[in-house]
Amino acid sequence: ATPISTMVGVGKAAEQGVLVRNGEALQTASRLTTLVVDKTGTLTEGKPRVTEAHLFSAGGGDDDEARLLGLVAGLERGSEHPLASALVSYCEARAGDTAAEVRDFTSVTGGGVRASDGDGHALLLGNARLLEEAGVDLGDAAERASQWEKQARTVVYLAVGGELAALFGISDPLRHDTATAVRRLQADGLRVVMLTGDNRHTAAAIAAELGIDDFQAGLLPEDKHAEIERRQQAGEVVGMVGDGINDAPALARADVGFAIGQGTDVAIESAGITLMRGSLHGVAAAIEISRATLTNIK
Ligand code: ADP
Ligand code: MG
Repeated sequence: ATPISTMVGVGKAAEQGVLVRNGEALQTASRLTTLVVDKTGTLTEGKPRVTEAHLFSAGGGDDDEARLLGLVAGLERGSEHPLASALVSYCEARAGDTAAEVRDFTSVTGGGVRASDGDGHALLLGNARLLEEAGVDLGDAAERASQWEKQARTVVYLAVGGELAALFGISDPLRHDTATAVRRLQADGLRVVMLTGDNRHTAAAIAAELGIDDFQAGLLPEDKHAEIERRQQAGEVVGMVGDGINDAPALARADVGFAIGQGTDVAIESAGITLMRGSLHGVAAAIEISRATLTNIK
């Protein structure tokens, strides 16, 4: 497109809350064949809440419960992950301000967090993969967890001293207009693909609800990047929508990166287009404007 028609397109996009930082991104949008979307914070609101909890207490009783919740709050205070604030709020509501002091805190990308308590017990909080890699036996809990996961819950496990101590089901509702936006994008001829760090069952439940048949779960940030590269090498022109630090490499790699306006600064800096209304309808609008702009100058 000529610079002038691109400028007109940029203006039209802005009217719909779609901020184009880079005119070339808007031109390329008309050629996209594939749209890769992150799940948490992109398809969903990114405001998770704990909806289920199961605590395995040694002696039983409220003291035990408060102790476990204090450990969870102590662990997640050090984390910036959206799941962490959901867990801290839940623990404080149930047990008050009883967060335990933890030592040697580290966060494990795509897994969770680890630390040790005042008595030197190893603490692990995160997904099944994190605990299994540390040799924790999940036993019957896996069955309970998969029931929750089928209801699109993300399950977070706590282990204390190598023993499973609690599990939490966390719900992060879809944005109110995600389903209609996915259908609009598919009607525009795009192949919509979901890539997520969350587990397979939760991902499958969300994908089924949205009519997305192409998805991958349990991915690390570098896996999202590699999957986009693989599709580009196969001839697809790939857009990517994401909100998190973990999406930044993929946003930068995509032919057009779309950042959720409420997302992290790193994501916004890595993307050519920002969706100020946080809605996937903004992606469809950008693609439709881009196509119309090109048609006009033919
Ligand atoms: P995504 O945003 O695509 O879900 P992440 O890489 O941020 O991917 O997280 C992947 C998974 O790792 C989460 O679904 C969760 O199971 C686990 N996880 C990561 N950080 C934490 C944390 N602070 N507390 C609990 N679980 C976590
Ligand atoms: Mg995300």
